Amino acid sequence: MSTPHASAIWHPFTQHALQPVMTKIARAEGAWLEAADGSRIFDGISSWWVVTHGHNYPPIVRAIQRQAGVLDQVIFAGFTHEPAEEVARRLIEIAPAGLAHVFFSDSGSTSVEVALKMALGYFRHQGEPRSRIVALEHAYHGDTIGTMSAGARGVFNAPYEPLLFDVERLPFPEQGREQRTHDAFEAICKREPPAALILEPLILGAGGMLVYGPDVLAGLKRICEAHGVLFIADEVMTGFGRTGTLFACEQADISPDIMCLSKGLTGGVIPLAVTLCRHGIFEAHWSADRSRMFFHSSSFTANPIACAAAAANLEVWAREPVRERIAALASAQAARLERFRADGRFSNVRQAGTIAALDLNAVDAGYLAGVATKLYNFFAERGLLLRPLGNTIYVMPPYCTAPDELDAAYAAIAEAADLARK
Ligand SMILES: *Cc1c(COP(=O)(O)O)cnc(C)c1O
Repeated sequence: MSTPHASAIWHPFTQHALQPVMTKIARAEGAWLEAADGSRIFDGISSWWVVTHGHNYPPIVRAIQRQAGVLDQVIFAGFTHEPAEEVARRLIEIAPAGLAHVFFSDSGSTSVEVALKMALGYFRHQGEPRSRIVALEHAYHGDTIGTMSAGARGVFNAPYEPLLFDVERLPFPEQGREQRTHDAFEAICKREPPAALILEPLILGAGGMLVYGPDVLAGLKRICEAHGVLFIADEVMTGFGRTGTLFACEQADISPDIMCLSKGLTGGVIPLAVTLCRHGIFEAHWSADRSRMFFHSSSFTANPIACAAAAANLEVWAREPVRERIAALASAQAARLERFRADGRFSNVRQAGTIAALDLNAVDAGYLAGVATKLYNFFAERGLLLRPLGNTIYVMPPYCTAPDELDAAYAAIAEAADLARK
């Protein structure tokens, strides 16, 4: 079949045969995108979970403009610069206690790859090689070969399956069945302690916005400690306020051994990621022996412009009432979700801080089910960017969103329910 296509661009997670036309966006501000034809679209998913304070947030824009004329890029091996130093200092101040070192990279996936490599390096250099990784059922950690390996297997990675490495998988801690998850982890550790447990704290994002409680997290951390297993918190989505606290781990009162951050690190403006770790992990690599250095680098490691954006974001967190905005958004979400709890067309109505999600009781569920596309198009026609995961509809807007800006989205969700079931 020929593929008439006006552009050379190959878009992510897009079946071009079914979606030949992309919406061209010209500008954005706050919680709104403006298309090239002038129409406005409510960004109900924060442009894939990255935008925190709102699009084009002035202090971050200004920081980028300032930095761009001063130092654009410099190799980060053997060199450093003030924007990166400032980001590292500030992150260590606000991160869970014990995290003492900051490794820069440029996407959530690479921050997770770095975490896995740190964990393996740590055990190797301790003279106690461990290489097994434990992850949660339905997990998502990125789209590279390594991070897909840690993530759930499914239609997304079937073509690449021959290259993926095996990980031990814990059952998702469904409400009321949390003990099953703890028991499974305990059994794995007793058989042979793995190198690390990696998980998305409190809410699994791409796996379907699945929430679980802080007690589960705290319990898993205790098991890690008992068996010397590194606890890797992938806070790429949950970091920077999404779940109500700056980091989701705070709600379980735990400090991970390694923590991955990316999406909201620059306020969602420019790609940047960090992997934070405890001193012992850094120390295991510290040696006069060059073969023990940490062998990882991205060309753009700690790009100064991206770091300036991140430093400005951290300043916004320090100076502005971001936590209050988050609390207000969370309660506005809660109020609007309420009516769906008694609505038989939906189930599993849930929330984690600013993130609201519910499942449509459709006949065909799952990521590839036609229902997601029908819903997506239905919302798009109403000027709403919502991108259901299978039959899971979620709303994750920027923190600047005013309560009444949510109303159209929830009205459309209520209206869409009947349409999608036909
Ligand atoms: C988005 C995401 C990633 C991958 O981040 P990219 O920047 O898209 O590579 C990793 N982990 C989690 C939990 C995510 O939500």
